[in-house]
Amino acid sequence: MKINENFDELAESYLFAEVARRTKIFADAHPEVRIIKMGIGDVTLPLAPAVSDAMKKAADEMAVKETFKGYPEYEGYEFLRNAISGYYGSFGVSVSSDEIFVNDGAKSDCGNIGDIFSTDCTVLVTDPVYPVYVDTNIMAGRKIVYAPSTAENGFCAMPDDNVHADIIYLCSPNNPTGAAYTADQLKKWIEYAINNDAVILYDAAYEAFISDDLPRSIFAVEGARKCAIELCSLSKTAGFTGVRCGYTVIPKELTFDGHSIKDLWYRRQSSKFNGVSYPVQRAAEAVFSPEGQKQTRENIMYYKRNAELIAKTMEKLGITYTGGRNSPYIWITCPDGMGSWEFFDYLLEKANVVATPGEGFGKCGKGCMRFTSFADHSSTVEAMERIEKAVN
Ligand code: PLP
Repeated sequence: MKINENFDELAESYLFAEVARRTKIFADAHPEVRIIKMGIGDVTLPLAPAVSDAMKKAADEMAVKETFKGYPEYEGYEFLRNAISGYYGSFGVSVSSDEIFVNDGAKSDCGNIGDIFSTDCTVLVTDPVYPVYVDTNIMAGRKIVYAPSTAENGFCAMPDDNVHADIIYLCSPNNPTGAAYTADQLKKWIEYAINNDAVILYDAAYEAFISDDLPRSIFAVEGARKCAIELCSLSKTAGFTGVRCGYTVIPKELTFDGHSIKDLWYRRQSSKFNGVSYPVQRAAEAVFSPEGQKQTRENIMYYKRNAELIAKTMEKLGITYTGGRNSPYIWITCPDGMGSWEFFDYLLEKANVVATPGEGFGKCGKGCMRFTSFADHSSTVEAMERIEKAVN
């Protein structure tokens, strides 16, 4: 019996384990100290009432013979796909309900989508990167090339015509850097993709955090329907990290190698996936109702206020950063030329604050640090006061 030897090529997933190890050593040595965690990538506010009410009502329907539901449709119930299509329409993007595939979260499809493309494809990711794009493609045996996101390009990596890629992962607003692409920048990526006969896998998991005049979807940009697939999630939009629901959009006209990508994906899903539960899909539908939108927007605004406070603190301290405006993430260049882990230890000891060292997200993350806005507001205020004292 041989295992998939590509697994031997995976880098050790040590980032969060090492953060936890160093934090524990410090906490054990200083039991009197309250450590504030500004590295968490999970939401902390509960589900909106409109959402949990819809989930409860759906659970009750499942307990009655006349309204009980068995296996759901592979691509998601029509009521939810219609609601998602209407949501796209609310910001001026036309996506029809038969181009939408409901799933159990964007992470699954970020990797699973690779099933329909050759393992000979070269994958381009921006660096620093959400590690799922890299690891899932290493598991499949694909070659990966990196496009650097650095201070010089405003942490928005741009295509290099001398580099060929077949599959391009873009994430905007970005995890971890918080930077978001403009329509003009996306247009350049679309032109590059079309010239390379490549597909763009556009991760819009954080689109709900956009408040400036920036595209909320790659399909807001001309040409995208010929080369892009969009991956979305309700995790950060509506606190679904524990509920699990997202959606993937594949335009009807997207074809490669003479095949409809939407049809291939349906074939893949119907072979390997049995859908998302009815109560979860009803809860997701409620996110897009007027009441659900109002309530979930309030939660996003709460996180955005935290992000703004973190960004303002960095500005005050003269620390260079991106994100924080259209994103829950703030990506800083560590002060005084400190390395990521060096600044991690400094913050832990002097401010008793934990953030995430940037180099865990790729080579270009060296000397950077990621703060998140998902902690509660009072902890965020206190953490920023402590950092001001420690860094000043
Ligand atoms: N894409 C990005 C960029 C993320 O940061 C995350 C979660 O952290 C996901 C996708 C996964 O989302 P989900 O919870 O829907 O699987």
